[in-house]
Amino acid sequence: AQLAEEAEQQLGLRQVEERLHRDHIHRVTKPCPEYPNYQYLCRVCSVHIENVHGAYKHIKEKRHKKNMTEKQEETELRALPAPSAGQLRAVDAVVMETARQQGISERDFEERASVVARMEEVIKTHLSGRAPGGDIISWL
Ligand SMILES: [Zn+2]
Repeated sequence: AQLAEEAEQQLGLRQVEERLHRDHIHRVTKPCPEYPNYQYLCRVCSVHIENVHGAYKHIKEKRHKKNMTEKQEETELRALPAPSAGQLRAVDAVVMETARQQGISERDFEERASVVARMEEVIKTHLSGRAPGGDIISWL
């Protein structure tokens, strides 16, 4: 009778642990030296949990639920199929069109570069021969 009871407990624990696995809580095979009495580890939150009771409590915590949602989103994104050639062409077309409409022209680019060069020249001229520190700050 005692053996049957033990078997039943084992089965119960297995079912409980299967439930916990869905929340990424696993029994630790090698107890962490910092937490020798903690039997479970939540891999989503990286927290140690003492026992089954604590694990159930942990599942209901807001922090764990939030981490679970994030993990799920991550998994779903990773599971997305690679884009098809047609989709890539469509993205390319949108990027090129946006660059044409919003991007700066070659001439604008050169003009900006020359302004930067002139600014550098002005700064060098005004700062050369001066001691660094107070003078520079007052000039700026
Ligand atoms: Zn957790």
